[in-house]
Formats: sequence, structure tokens, C-alpha cells
Amino acid sequence: METLVVDHPLVAHKLTTLRDVRTDSPTFRRLADELVTLLAYEATRDVRVTDVTVQTPVAPADGVRLAKPYPLVVPILRAGLGMLDGMTRLLPTAEVGFLGMIRNESTLQAETYATRLPDDLSGRQCYVVDPMLATGGTLAAAIQFLFDRGAVDVTALCLLAAPEGLAYMDKVFANSGKPIRVVTAALDERLNEHGYIVPGLGDAGDRLYGVV
Ligand code: URA
Repeated sequence: METLVVDHPLVAHKLTTLRDVRTDSPTFRRLADELVTLLAYEATRDVRVTDVTVQTPVAPADGVRLAKPYPLVVPILRAGLGMLDGMTRLLPTAEVGFLGMIRNESTLQAETYATRLPDDLSGRQCYVVDPMLATGGTLAAAIQFLFDRGAVDVTALCLLAAPEGLAYMDKVFANSGKPIRVVTAALDERLNEHGYIVPGLGDAGDRLYGVV
């Protein structure tokens, strides 16, 4: 698994405001949206393209277009929805599939409670969006779900990641033989006893959409 921490002053600036407990939901949503567009620029570096030639007013010009099948963007409900618009702004031809995942409090395993995405993902590049890579349980389950449906490679975009979550993902996918990338705006210190990222930004879903 490859991890990329996007090191850019604009990313750091927006992330600092996002973390701030005084930042209200409308500002939080706008900043998350802006941040994901910056992360997406790096995350899509290996997106598949095909060669095309277009006619300019002056002469033919060689270029590229996104290859088919188009990439699939997969927000993990609910907090991943806050990252969807930023992704589709950069990848307007991408299709979108939805995955609802929840942690079973008795088994502590991530379980899927809602799916709306193609049955066959053969040949698809997938971009999973979920703001917080904490224990890694949810993200690993989501990625395995996409591989089981035939996805060829998966890139996860997270606003923040914890070392424990990255280590867990590394362990789970050590022998998968499939390309996996995690692109994040920062790698934080650790998880606390409640599974929250420290210093983190709190509950991403609550900060985006309000406390449930
Ligand atoms: N999910 C969140 O929303 N925040 C955390 O810190 C960890 C998981």
C-alpha cells in the first residue's frame, strides 16, 4: 500500500481552520470541499487516459481523454458525502457509487448497511472518499468490497489519517497483490481510547452535518 501525505501550504492552511473547534458547519463543509479538490489533484495522478487528437483553430493537437470505463467515486456514508462534490468537480465524468458502513458494537467489525453501486467493477479504478482514517476497519472493509466486485485498483482520499489505521490497512492488504493508495492531508499522532484521531478534528460527520 502506498501512502501520500499531501505537503502543501494551502492544504495545511485549510486543514488548520477545519480542525479549529470554533469553525462552524457551513465553513467546515466549504473547507472540506476545497481540500478534497486539492487532494484529488494528487490522487488522480494515475487515472487512466487514452490518446486523442483534436483540431485546434490552427492545427491538429495530440492530447488525452479519461479512458473508459470511467472512474468510480465511492463516498462512505455519512461523512464521505462531504467530500463527494469536490471529487466530481475534478472528475465530472466519474460515476458515483454509495456505501453505507457502520461498526457493529458487539463484534467491533465494520458492516455494510447500504450499497448502491454497480455489481461488476471489472477494470474500474475506484476512489473511496472518507474523511477520517482512524482504526482503518471501515476503509479496509470498503476496499475489500470493491475488490470483491472486480475493481482493479483503489485510491482512498482522507482528510486525516492515524498511524494505527495505516498500519492496519498495510496488514490487511499485505498479500492482496492489488494497488492501493491512501492520499491524506495529514498524518496525525495517534488514536485516543475512544478511537478518535488526536489531535484530529472531532467527529467529521457531526461537524459536517450536525450531531446525531
Ligand atoms: N471518525 C471521526 O469522525 N473522527 C475521528 O477522530 C475518528 C473517526
